[in-house]
Amino acid sequence: MLSVDLHTHTNCSDGQLTPDQLLAEASKNGVQLFSITDHDTLAAYRQLSMSPPAEMKLLVGIELSCTWRRMTIHMIGLNLDANAASMQEAESKQGQARSQRFEMILQRLTKVGLYIDTERLIELGGSCPGRPHIARYLHETGQVKSETQAFDKYLGQGKIGDVKECWPDVSQAIEWVRQAGGVAVLAHPMKYRLTRTKLIELCTDFKEEGGVGIEIISGQQNPTQTKTVSDIAQKLGLLGSVGSDFHKPGQPWAVVGKVASLPENIEPIWSLFE
Ligand code: AMP
Ligand code: MN
Ligand code: MN
Ligand code: MN
Repeated sequence: MLSVDLHTHTNCSDGQLTPDQLLAEASKNGVQLFSITDHDTLAAYRQLSMSPPAEMKLLVGIELSCTWRRMTIHMIGLNLDANAASMQEAESKQGQARSQRFEMILQRLTKVGLYIDTERLIELGGSCPGRPHIARYLHETGQVKSETQAFDKYLGQGKIGDVKECWPDVSQAIEWVRQAGGVAVLAHPMKYRLTRTKLIELCTDFKEEGGVGIEIISGQQNPTQTKTVSDIAQKLGLLGSVGSDFHKPGQPWAVVGKVASLPENIEPIWSLFE
């Protein structure tokens, strides 16, 4: 069985390992088809100093933030031409949106009485500032008990720090990916906590806009969730992808390359790349 992991992060976004360290980890774990999909940036591909081993195929990928019906959703672009003009535009626009959003979130948090050291936060956020950096800061300064609590109280969906007006809509994100020769895959569909009806509406719109695949497996998920997503993929004719959504070592629910296989009735997205 082919070992596949098409959703992982490095310290070029909110992950912990460098691109070289992540590639080494994937290689050690025997991954044969791999992608680094940092949030809104392809920087990892510019930083890699080594080639993948002979037994591994590395697809250029990205995880783009976008909006659907005023909700933030994530889309994976796979098999991209890293030098395409559309990706340069995507990286530039998403980078601006991230910085602007970061500032807006910090302003909102200051308003509700949290202490914010902007300099420290800018340092933590680096070139891809996001909510995880703010969560780390709030924890580090003792303003929350854990990073999870930071999301639960301030940063998660519907909370004061959930600023979403900066992202482009799904069709724009899909267009960038298509113009770079890639395919668009809806990321972790079960994470949006939608009803089944709403999830089908999202997937239908996504397909109509030019989306090709959906993550059937994201990290360690339960079989009921896999079945729900598989049924939708089959109903709508979306191809299946799998990914750990690895961010850092020591999280048993997201280990590089440790991802369940696609159910047999689902056509793999990688059938397009062979
Ligand atoms: P952003 O890109 O700024 O919207 O931040 C989204 C990232 O925050 C996700 O990719 C996860 O890595 C992380 N994240 C989202 N929700 C949570 C949560 N409840 N607890 C911890 N991390 C989270
Ligand atoms: Mn992340
Ligand atoms: Mn995501
Ligand atoms: Mn991710």
